[in-house]
Amino acid sequence: MMNKIILAVTGVSVLSAILVASTIAGSSYNLICENKDCGWTGEVLFGGGKAFDRITGYCLESGKFIYLQWRRGENKPEPFCRIWNPATGGIVELYKSPECDGCFMPINGIQELKYCPHCGQATLKYTRKALID
Ligand SMILES: [Zn+2]
Ligand SMILES: [Zn+2]
Repeated sequence: MMNKIILAVTGVSVLSAILVASTIAGSSYNLICENKDCGWTGEVLFGGGKAFDRITGYCLESGKFIYLQWRRGENKPEPFCRIWNPATGGIVELYKSPECDGCFMPINGIQELKYCPHCGQATLKYTRKALID
């Protein structure tokens, strides 16, 4: 099973295999901010495994990525509230943080992580770590 295998990133073919697999299994990434004045580093997970699924977010207060997880077969958690974003015209669903009193906006994948949560610049780069289950 693809999602049971820990893959080392050794080439383009392996990378594309991870890209395909990451839509079904969880994916883990190392993050680094390339802003020389910042240099923030972090780690983030997206998606779930066979037994559970998760929503990924970032907590401003604790400065950590947070995860709302639930068992597959159970209902996905309901949003705490929905807000209309007048700047984009879009609707944003906020979820209650599992770790603090705050709310968070789901990060739907690594492609949405462009801005460094520490300095706010669009200088965040990532590398894939491994598939998880
Ligand atoms: Zn929080
Ligand atoms: Zn930064």
